[in-house]
This record gives sequence, structure tokens and C-alpha cells, in this order.
Amino acid sequence: MLKSECKNLRHKQILRLECEAVFEDRYKERNMALRREILAWCDEILQVGLFKDYAPNGLQVEGKEEIAKIATSVTASKAAIDFAVEQGADMLLVHHGMFWKSEPVTITGWKKARIETLLQHQINMAGYHLPLDAHPQLGNNAQLAEKLDWVLEKQFGEQNLLNTGRLKTTQTLVQLSERIEAVFGRKPTVIGNLEREIKRIAWCSGGAQGFFQTAVDESVDAYLTGEISEAQYHLANETGVAFISAGHHATERYGVRALGDAVAEKFGIEVVHFDENNPA
Ligand SMILES: [Zn+2]
Repeated sequence: MLKSECKNLRHKQILRLECEAVFEDRYKERNMALRREILAWCDEILQVGLFKDYAPNGLQVEGKEEIAKIATSVTASKAAIDFAVEQGADMLLVHHGMFWKSEPVTITGWKKARIETLLQHQINMAGYHLPLDAHPQLGNNAQLAEKLDWVLEKQFGEQNLLNTGRLKTTQTLVQLSERIEAVFGRKPTVIGNLEREIKRIAWCSGGAQGFFQTAVDESVDAYLTGEISEAQYHLANETGVAFISAGHHATERYGVRALGDAVAEKFGIEVVHFDENNPA
């Protein structure tokens, strides 16, 4: 079947699936994929349309059309972009892109330098934000639970970004803190009685300290997120629910890697992962 025929019949689900089957093998034969194929697949897998986000999900800076190698990074930092250049990547896939609603829209200073490098090397930059926090397998929250050996009870709250679950083995707060340090390579900030037994936990990756009250309402023993503000110290002490701040970067390191690996597997292309020692 010609590709153009596929395109014309896109609205018919069965034919669309046939097209996919035909092209599935071709991806692997040619060791490259078209930008739009990768983006369409990510949009569908992550159900981008279901989220109200404060940054664009998908392509943020357009580069070359054919992708043989992707690089992943938590943030589209200059260091990550330079890594993508060094590695000869055709696409940089990130969790934190560049165009946040709260930021000025002008392209100056550090933002100019980042965009200039991407354009010079024709590297696509695509970002997936809240959809990549919430995805039940590839998402930051799901990956976090897997790394820490927690069993998910439910996703809930604002755009399903909050999670509750159980530890497979009950740990005291100090044991849990040590486990988190070993897994993430970063000492968490922990507020609460260190001898308290932790059986049920709530979590949300990144800067989700504002959801602490919602977690307290779920009667969990502890809440884990990436950041802490002044108020959570008092709330933890006064409610008895432990608060764990394990790092915004550290808690969001694994979602984009999982997505990058899934893209590489699906399209038979190369993937490389960038990490930097961001203590925040
Ligand atoms: Zn984040």
C-alpha cells in the first residue's frame, strides 16, 4: 500500500492499523523514522489531548525531518543540547521544554543560545510535560514507584497526577529515606518521625509540594515529591504525615528515559540519555 493511500484513509481505524503493520517493519529496516511519525506516536501513547498544560506538548523547535538517533534529557538545558550535538542526535526529547506560559516570549540571552544551537544543527526539540508525569507505565510517577518497589493503589487528583500506593515491605521513615538516597543518588529532605512505620504512601514527581494537603486527606503515612516549601514543614509536623522532598530533577529523571527507550524500540532507531548533576 502506498503511503499516500494510507494518508487518505486515516479516518478508517482498520485500514489505519493495516498501514501501521506495513510500516512497522519498514521502520526497523530503514533504521530511521520521520519526525511526524515519532511525534504522532508519542501524542497518542501519552494521550496529550487529555491534559491542560502550561507548556506546549510535542514539537517545540523544528529540525530535520528524518530521525535516526534521539537524545533524552529531563530539561532542554544548554548542556543537554550540546550533548545532543556531540552525539549526532536528530531529536532531543525532554520533560521540561522551553516555552512556559509564565515566561517572557522573547528569544534573548540563554534562550537565544539554546535555540540557536538547535537550529544550527537542525536538531528537533520535543517536550512532553504533564502527560509524561501521568502515563501509567512510562510516566515519571509510574517509573518512580517501580524504582522504589511500591504497588500503585490509584491515580487521582489534579489531572490524575497524584498517586497512592503501598510499600511492598513496610519500612521506617529512616529506612525509606536511605532507600531513596541509594536509588536516586541524592539525600532527600525528610520531615517527620524517623521511627514511624511507612506502609501507605502518596507521591507526585517534580514541584508538587502544593498537593501535600490532598495527600494528607488520603490518610497515607508519607508523601513524596521533588520539592519542599516552608509551609510543608509545619503541615508534616502537625498532621503526622511525613513529607519527603527527593529532588525535582531526581524524581523526573526516569519518565523521559522510558519514553526515549520506547520510541527507539518502536521505530528501530538509536537512543542516548543525558543526565546532569542538578541538586534541585
Ligand atoms: Zn518538572
